[in-house]
Amino acid sequence: MTRTDNDTWDLASSVGATATMVAAARALATSAEQPLIDDPYADPLVRAVGVDFFTRLVSGELRPQDLDDSETAGMQRMADNMAVRTKFFDDFFLDTARAGVRQAVILASGLDARAYRLDWPDGVVVYEIDQPAVIDFKSTTLADLGAAPTAERRTVAVDLRHDWPSALIDAGFDPTRPSAWSAEGLLGYLPPDAQDRLLDTITELSAPGSWIAVESVPRVDPDLHEKTVERMRTTSQRWQQHGFNLDFAELVYLGDRNEAATYLEERGWQMTRRSVRELLVANGLPPLDDQDAADFGELQYVSGRLSA
Ligand code: SAM
Repeated sequence: MTRTDNDTWDLASSVGATATMVAAARALATSAEQPLIDDPYADPLVRAVGVDFFTRLVSGELRPQDLDDSETAGMQRMADNMAVRTKFFDDFFLDTARAGVRQAVILASGLDARAYRLDWPDGVVVYEIDQPAVIDFKSTTLADLGAAPTAERRTVAVDLRHDWPSALIDAGFDPTRPSAWSAEGLLGYLPPDAQDRLLDTITELSAPGSWIAVESVPRVDPDLHEKTVERMRTTSQRWQQHGFNLDFAELVYLGDRNEAATYLEERGWQMTRRSVRELLVANGLPPLDDQDAADFGELQYVSGRLSA
C-alpha cells in the first residue's frame, strides 16, 4: 500500500494501524513486571480496534518471543522503546503544565490517552489533532469505557498536510499565549518537505516561552539505512506469518530529511537531546545491542523552548 498525497485511514489500516501497533507496545510496557509507565487505556483501545494480531499480543496469546529473532525489529524492544518514549513525553507535558503553560497540542494523537490519564493542573486545554476516523474512534471508545478526560480535551479532526492551523485556532487555540507541542511517532510518516512545513508552522503559532517535544533522527549512515529497510521488510513478513499484513517500509518516507532538533534550533528553539540508547540505560531497561542499532540507531527524543 504505497502512500499518496491525500491518503486516509482508520486504526486498522495504513498509517492508522501504526497507532494501534504503538498502543499495543504501550499495553505490553504497562503489563511489564516493573513497569516504567501506566497506560490503562492502551489495552482496551487495542482490543476495541479489533486487529486480531494486536489483540492476541495484548491478551498474551501471542508473546513477543513468538515473533522476535535477530533478523527482525523486536516487539519486546518496541515495548521498551515505547516505555521510555511515553515517559519522556509524559514528563514533558507535566513539566510544561506545572511551569504554567495552559495549552497542550498533541499532533498525531492516535490512541494516546494522555488527555485521560495525566494529572493535569487546572485550566489546561489539551488539543488532539489526527485524521477524523482516528479521532472519532478514540473519543467514542473511551466514552463507552466510561473514561473521562482529566483536562479540557478538544479534538481537531484534520489531516496535518492540510490547513490544520485554521482548524486548531477555530477550536480555541490562542497563538499569542505560550503552548506545549508534541509530535510523537509522526515525522517519518510525513514527506521531508511536509516535516519542514510542520515545524515552521508550529514555530509561527508559538508565542515566546512555548515548548516543543519531538523525535529527531541524526543523519543515518547509508549502510545502516539499507539494513533498516531490510529489517522492516523481514519484520513485516514475520508478522504476516501470524496473520498481520502491512509493509512498514511502504508507510514511511525513507531517505534524507532535515534533522528536527537542528532545524528547530535554527528557528530559535533551545533544544535538549536524549537518545533512546541513553534513556533505556537511565531507566534500567536492557541496553541496545548491535542488531537493535539498525532499528533505533541514534534516534533521539528532543525537547526545547522558544526563546522569549
Ligand atoms: N502519537 C501517537 C502515539 O505515539 O501513540 C500515534 C503515533 S502513530 C505511530 C502515527 C499517528 O500519526 C497516527 O495516529 C496517524 O493517524 C497520525 N498521522 C500520520 N500522518 C498524519 C497526517 N498527515 N495527518 C494527521 N495524522 C497523521
